[in-house]
Amino acid sequence: MIAENFKYAAPSSLQEAYELLHEYGDDAKILAGGHSLVPMMKLRFASPTHLVDINNIPGLAYITEEDGYLKIGAMTREHELEESSIITNKYHVFTDASKLIADPQVRNFGTIGGNIAHGDAANDHPAVMLALKAEVQISGQDGDRMVSINDFFHGFYMTAVQHGEILTEIRIPVPRNKFGSAYHKEERKVGDYATAGVAVAIEIDDNGVCTNAGIGLTNVNPLPMKVERSEAVLIGSRLTTEDIATAAKYAAEDCSPSEDLRGDEDYKRHLVKVITKRMLNKAIQRAKS
Ligand SMILES: Cc1cc2nc3c(=O)[nH]c(=O)nc-3n(C[C@H](O)[C@H](O)[C@H](O)COP(=O)(O)OP(=O)(O)OC[C@H]3O[C@@H](n4cnc5c(N)ncnc54)[C@H](O)[C@@H]3O)c2cc1C
Repeated sequence: MIAENFKYAAPSSLQEAYELLHEYGDDAKILAGGHSLVPMMKLRFASPTHLVDINNIPGLAYITEEDGYLKIGAMTREHELEESSIITNKYHVFTDASKLIADPQVRNFGTIGGNIAHGDAANDHPAVMLALKAEVQISGQDGDRMVSINDFFHGFYMTAVQHGEILTEIRIPVPRNKFGSAYHKEERKVGDYATAGVAVAIEIDDNGVCTNAGIGLTNVNPLPMKVERSEAVLIGSRLTTEDIATAAKYAAEDCSPSEDLRGDEDYKRHLVKVITKRMLNKAIQRAKS
């Protein structure tokens, strides 16, 4: 199908973008990589009257560690995450996830900001952000505000980004102890959305005690889901086989998958249990190596 008619603007500064978003009103949409929005427009699930393309705004694509945070600009492309030495040396959960997202063509255009701002529990980065306990910078005419990722997802395609605002940066606290992270999703075929996916991040001190744990789930809950009960079991533990098994069991119990073409509820819960266990072991191995 062909999208409905729309007007197009490509501002060259954030200020100009805010002004256009205010001028065009509620039916305007931000265009980043376009790899979620444009398919939706073609299917007429979305029919914005105006597109505000933020690709010409300089300074929105970067990956840096400073002030105790890993900072990622919203317009950083998926392939840039795969290629960044900061990411590939330490934050393996990103590279695990990026490699499983669609295909190289999508990854050359899709942005990290768009992946999260889309507000879809089937996307892979929301779970990664939950595991890493990210904060999101949302900017507008009144300045910047920081929102915890725990408060970011409000509903299906609904997030904390309000009309006239732009997601500009993602901040992840730099780990203080030995750190390991991992992501895997089970998919029907290469490039598919997850049947179930699990992101894990853990920190371990010199005595082998887990000081921080984050677990996020993909596509097994109406909203991207953080598994607090599993995290609580792990923090303060020595990450024994029993601790890991309990955390995996809680993740499977606490999610709310729905039956669809990818599988029924029991199958998806089973996947969550198995993948959580495997990703925890992988993250622990990475933390110790
Ligand atoms: C064939 C195919 C397969 C795919 N498979 C996967 C997959 O397996 N896993 C996965 O995670 N994704 C998948 N995707 C989606 C892809 O990763 C998208 O690129 C991503 O979801 C959206 O990023 P984008 O930059 O393309 O955003 P866009 O499509 O431009 O925008 C998406 C939404 O976010 C809003 N938005 C974008 N940027 C901002 C911003 N900075 N501030 C505020 N709002 C913003 C837009 O207005 C729009 O509503 C797939 C896409 C395709 C076409």
